[in-house]
Amino acid sequence: MTATNSSPVRLTPLGCGWLTGATRLFLRGVEGSIRVPVPAYRIEHPKGTILFDAGMHPDVATDPVARLGPIAKVFAVEMGLGDRVSARLEAHGSDPDRVDLVIVSHLHFDHAGGLASIPNADLMIQRREWEAAEDPDLAQRNGYLREDFDHGHRLRLVDGEHDVFGDGSVVCIPTHGHTPGHQSLRVRLDTGDVILAGDACYLHKTLADRHLPSVVHDEAEMLASLDRLDALQQGGAQIYFGHDPELWQSLIS
Ligand SMILES: [Zn+2]
Repeated sequence: MTATNSSPVRLTPLGCGWLTGATRLFLRGVEGSIRVPVPAYRIEHPKGTILFDAGMHPDVATDPVARLGPIAKVFAVEMGLGDRVSARLEAHGSDPDRVDLVIVSHLHFDHAGGLASIPNADLMIQRREWEAAEDPDLAQRNGYLREDFDHGHRLRLVDGEHDVFGDGSVVCIPTHGHTPGHQSLRVRLDTGDVILAGDACYLHKTLADRHLPSVVHDEAEMLASLDRLDALQQGGAQIYFGHDPELWQSLIS
């Protein structure tokens, strides 16, 4: 990228609450507990406003136990009304009803639950992820909650790498393994490329040490995805890890 080729894209991190749970869920074999952020991101492009991941369902802010069921036993949830993705968008001057496209990394509750409050957007997701959610066995094994994502959004199913606007500024990068069809997003900013890793890479340590979480859908695929993220990082991209508290502090401060 050259100085004369300025990016049309702006990226805004949106904090959608916090989860506290056993560290081993993020780094297998490690004892203790860890408090991690639930991030979403607004991407503004001349051709439209994108939300990457949507945080948790808005009802989690008022009654997490009723909304999340067994998941509420695994994680202590911190989510105020201001942490709803719709509230975060409004605080940054965007109308949730006018978001054009939601791209989700995958369908877990802390990434897809907020889809309920983005009613008019198209939903872009890897076909493999959507088809996994349609398969009762895979849906159960991956802990998908149908009420998180089954809201009748117009689907834009993609297979592998996908250039969203055709100008290279926002590109879906398949990073399967955490779930069957997980994807990350490459965003080209003036300052360089950023990779919104999602749960393909929870933490800095996940990538640096190839330290996997305790629960992985497909370990070989996840390791291959980490190799891909590593190669992107070697090429100069900055990786925004999916749930890294230190990185998050640096992004929102
Ligand atoms: Zn996940």
